[in-house]
Amino acid sequence: MSKLARAIFPGSFDPLTLGHVDIITRALEFCEQVIVGVLANPSKSPLFTADERVDLIEQHFRLYGERVVAESFSGLLVDFAKEQKTRVLLRGLRATSDFDYEAQMALMNRHLSSEIETFFLMTLEKHSYISSSLVKQVAPLGGSVEHLVPPVVAEALMDKYESVA
Ligand code: ADP
Repeated sequence: MSKLARAIFPGSFDPLTLGHVDIITRALEFCEQVIVGVLANPSKSPLFTADERVDLIEQHFRLYGERVVAESFSGLLVDFAKEQKTRVLLRGLRATSDFDYEAQMALMNRHLSSEIETFFLMTLEKHSYISSSLVKQVAPLGGSVEHLVPPVVAEALMDKYESVA
C-alpha cells in the first residue's frame, strides 16, 4: 500500500492524551508523516502555552524522528494546510456526540478550500472517555492520570499544579 505523504492532525492538545497518541500512531500506518497542528489561539484559555504543548508532543514522539512533527499555528486551518503543502486533515471521533461538531468543521473547511479532505479515525474503546478537559479536572485534585496521558505529560501536569499550589 502506498502511503499518504503527510497529514495534519489539528487540535488544542492541552495537553496531549493517550487518545491523541493512539490516533497519531494509527495514522502513521497510512501516512508517511503526521504534522500535529497545535492551535495557538483557542477560545478557551489554555493550561499549557502553545510552545509547552508542542514541546510535550515532540518529547513523547522523539523516537519517531521526522515522522511526527509538532507545529503551532494560528488563523485558519486551511491556510496552515496550504503552508504545509498537504490536503489531508485527520480528526479523531470518540462518540456520536463528537460527530455534529466535527461534521460542521469538516464542511466549513471544505467550503474554505475545496481541496481539503478530512479523514476520521475512530477512537479505541478504552480511550473513548479520555479528553484533555477531563484530565485537567482530575489532575489538580490529585487523581491518577497514569492511564490517561503519556508519562512526560503526567510529569508536566504535576509541575504545573505544584507551581500554582
Ligand atoms: P479540539 O479542541 O480541536 O477538539 P483536542 O485536542 O481536544 O482539540 O482534540 C484534537 C482531536 O483529537 C479531535 O479530533 C478530537 O476529536 C480527537 N480526540 C480527542 N480525544 C480523543 C480520544 N480520547 N480518542 C480519539 N480522539 C480523540
